[in-house]
Parts: sequence; structure tokens; C-alpha cells
Amino acid sequence: ALSDRFDGIFKRLKGRGRLGDAEVDEVLREIRVALLEADVNIAVARGLVGRIRERCVGEELSRSLSPAQQVIKIVHEELIETLGGETMKVTFASKPPTVVLMAGLQGAGKTTTTAKLARWFKQQGRNPLLVGADLQRPAAVEQLRTLGSQIDVPVWSEPTDPVAVAEGGLAEARRLGRDVVIVDTAGRLAIDAEMMEQVRQISGAVDPHYTFLVIDAMTGQDAVSVAQAFHETLALDGVILTKLDGDARGGAALSVKEVVGRPIAFASTGEKIADFDQFHPDRLAGRILGMGDVLTLIEKAEEAFEKDEAEAAAARLLEGQFTLDDFLEQMQQLKKMGPLQGLMGMLPGVPKEVRDAEIDDREIARVEAIIRSMTIAERTDPDIVDGSRRTRIANGSGTSPNQVAQLLKQFKEVQSLMKRMGGGGMVPGRKKGKK
Ligand code: GDP
Ligand code: MG
Repeated sequence: ALSDRFDGIFKRLKGRGRLGDAEVDEVLREIRVALLEADVNIAVARGLVGRIRERCVGEELSRSLSPAQQVIKIVHEELIETLGGETMKVTFASKPPTVVLMAGLQGAGKTTTTAKLARWFKQQGRNPLLVGADLQRPAAVEQLRTLGSQIDVPVWSEPTDPVAVAEGGLAEARRLGRDVVIVDTAGRLAIDAEMMEQVRQISGAVDPHYTFLVIDAMTGQDAVSVAQAFHETLALDGVILTKLDGDARGGAALSVKEVVGRPIAFASTGEKIADFDQFHPDRLAGRILGMGDVLTLIEKAEEAFEKDEAEAAAARLLEGQFTLDDFLEQMQQLKKMGPLQGLMGMLPGVPKEVRDAEIDDREIARVEAIIRSMTIAERTDPDIVDGSRRTRIANGSGTSPNQVAQLLKQFKEVQSLMKRMGGGGMVPGRKKGKK
């Protein structure tokens, strides 16, 4: 399974401190093989790997994540993108009923899914009507009626022909005041000209608001050619993936959206009517990665890293060893958190001017430039910064000697304030906000 392979890759990645070009290549090769083994369409796999490569090479590595975590994060994000990014929004016809046409091969799960979808619409406060337009198999309408009674949704059909049934169903919905009509259609075991013509005619007759292609996720790559064929005939609005419970590989899901350019709207994960929901790309991406909470882990790692740094700074601060680097760090944090919530703002006894100071980006950039232009010796003991050092720092940071002097004065004030407070006051840990 794709998830297992990724697991293997990431386990090996975990040990690495830093990834070079050769390692990135190796990782990408493995990801590519994993994708192909999961039955992802080759063009889709190539595109996905290409995007992952670009970001692995181009993106600035965050210092809070190990290279492995970084790669996992990129792969996760690209998987979500490939799966369509956002959950599809379902809208309703301004003039009801909203007509939904279900198409797909036999056994894909159309009839079952028709009922599941009706139940979902009911949960949205709608009043659906099911229409049985699969007259190919005598049992098909009966199956739909049984399902309809389970969810308390009326089913309409008549033993005429599929197009007439669909039209009749629409009229029935208007008569009954049902605001959503879901039309179940017949499928064949393979793409078939007669079947395509029939579903095209039904579509022409009822002019659906949504045409959904029901695809069995177990069919893997075949899903792509099926989707292409249906899309050419029907102009699909979305895909409904079924039997995801039997296929953790996600190959079909990854391929379909990319090739057909239509989102996966819903997913079915079992035989029970309730095993159905809107499709959430982020969840399947997590599942494909085989790390359900991979993102939570990464967020935790980022948080823990920040917390470590904050605690270390707080400890130095309480010992009176508040350095210029801490000072810069605090300013950046203050900026991130807003004036009142920062470290200094929460410490008792901090003068109001310091607490309420609005720090703008340019100021932080200037402070950073100045501090970065100082040698380690100067940072450790700013008192050694004399006139000539001031000029050198100013030149190096694109500021004036006056601004350098001002910053150092500010720093000394804060530092002595910190010293005076040493031992007193709680230093709050920092929490990273959601992005
Ligand atoms: P149709 O021929 O396209 O109308 O397919 P059906 O709705 O009759 O479903 C075919 C079979 O697939 C039935 O036995 C369903 O119970 C089963 N099925 C449908 N969706 C799922 C699913 O998400 N998971 C599982 N395990 N079985 C499903
Ligand atoms: Mg059926």
C-alpha cells in the first residue's frame, strides 16, 4: 500500500539530519514507485512528484522541522492539492428541484449511493425524491425502493423507458414539492455505446444541476479511463468514490481529480447507508500517508520547538542573562502575538510604554539587521561597542550610528528591567497560532 511505502520512506528519513540533492532524488524516486504501486496514473504520479521536487528544492527549510518532517509536510500538502484541495460545495438550483444524475458502471455502487446521497440531502434539510431509471435489471428499482423506505424517502419509477421515467420523476417531484431529485441509472460492466447514449438522453431530458460519476475505488487506474469516457459524454460535475473501505491505496482518488479536472464530491466507505460523507481531501491525504495525525505531529513538533526556545530564553532572562538575541526574538514574538500578549506584556511591573509599544515590521527588520551585524563578542557584551564599532555596525546593517546607539540603549533598559525582576513573575509559554 502507498501508506506502507511512505511509512518506510519516512522511517528512513527520520534518522537524517539534513538532506542533500542525492537524498532528495532518492526520496522522490521512492515516492514515485509508491504512487505507481498504489495504481496512481503515471502522468499524475509524474506531475505530483515534480511538484514535490520543486518545493523540496525551492522552499526555505523551516528550522523548526527536521528535513524528514519537512518532506512529509510537503508531500501531505501536495496530496491534498492533487485530491482537489477543498471539500466541494454543493449548491442548490434557484428554481427547485435540484436534479442530480447518477452515472457509472454496474456494481460501482450507484443505487446504494443514490440512497446515501438522499440521506445526506435530508440532513441538509432538503426533501429528496429518488427516481429509479435503471430498467435494465428488474431488481434494480426494487433495491432502490427498499433503500428509500429505510431512509423514509419516496421512490418514483414506472415500467416504461429510462428517459420517460426520468422526465416523469421530475414532474412527480414538482407535484409533491420535493426540492431534490436523484436519478439512478443503469450501468454495464464496461463502457458501452448503448449505455452512454441512454444516459446522455436522460441527461438531455432532465438537464441535471449535478451529474455525478460513481466510481469504485477498488478499480484503481481503470477509474481514470472510465471517468474520461463518462466525462466526454456527460460533462461531469463531480465524482463519488465508493468502496474506499476496501482500498487504502487511494490510487483512483489521486488520479481521477487530476485527469478529469472534476472534484471528488462524496466518498462512500462501507455498505451501510451511514457510511457516506462529503469528500475531504485532507483526510484521505492523511490516510494515504498512513499517518492519520501526521499533521498534528508536525504541529506539535513546531510548537515544542518554539516552547523550548521560549523556555530557554525565559531561563536566561531570570538569571539576568538576557541577550541581544533574546531581545530580537522577543520583539519578533511580540509582533506575532500583538502588543499585549507578548512575554514582556504579561510580566508584572513592565512599564506601560513597553507593554503597549506597537512594533512594526520595519522596526523589527532594522533591529534584526543591527544585531546580525554585530560580532558575537559585541552581542555578549554590548558595552564594548564604541564609536568605530558603531559606525561599522551601522554600515553593515544599513542604519545610522545613532540608530545603533539607540537600540543598544533600549536593550540595556530592558535588560536591567529583566534583572530587577529576576526570580519574580511567571514567564508564560508561547503557543503558536493556527496558520
Ligand atoms: P450499482 O450497480 O452501481 O447500482 O451498484 P450497487 O449500488 O447495487 O452496489 C453494488 C455493491 O457494492 C452492493 O453490494 C453494495 O452494497 C456495495 N457497495 C456500495 N458502496 C459500497 C462501499 O462504499 N463499500 C462497500 N464495502 N460496499 C459498497
Ligand atoms: Mg444499480
